[in-house]
Amino acid sequence: MPYVITEKCLGEVYAQCVDVCPVNCIHPGDYKGQPFMIINPEECTECTSCYSACPIGAIVEGVDKDPEYGKINAELAPTFKNNPPIPTRPANDPPKRPDVNKLVN
Ligand code: SF4
Repeated sequence: MPYVITEKCLGEVYAQCVDVCPVNCIHPGDYKGQPFMIINPEECTECTSCYSACPIGAIVEGVDKDPEYGKINAELAPTFKNNPPIPTRPANDPPKRPDVNKLVN
């Protein structure tokens, strides 16, 4: 079951996950007027690498952990996958949204 990027990523986009994904299936774009990233479910091999790479815990281990965002990742993938890569943010850069760690994965 493909991994999923959740609401926690919205407006944050550290993009650390991109560097560790062996199949290059994580892509940036805009969602709800904010920068966001998705995992292309057609290409994710469930290797687990991205899960621990995200400094704010925005990735969950499968669609069943966040079905709403699983659907959103799948819907956005066809357009996001054509977007150019974005620069990474340092992992120790504080989250822009003060409430981000209260969001439930
Ligand atoms: Fe890429 Fe592996 Fe994460 Fe899937 S689980 S998005 S293949 S790093």
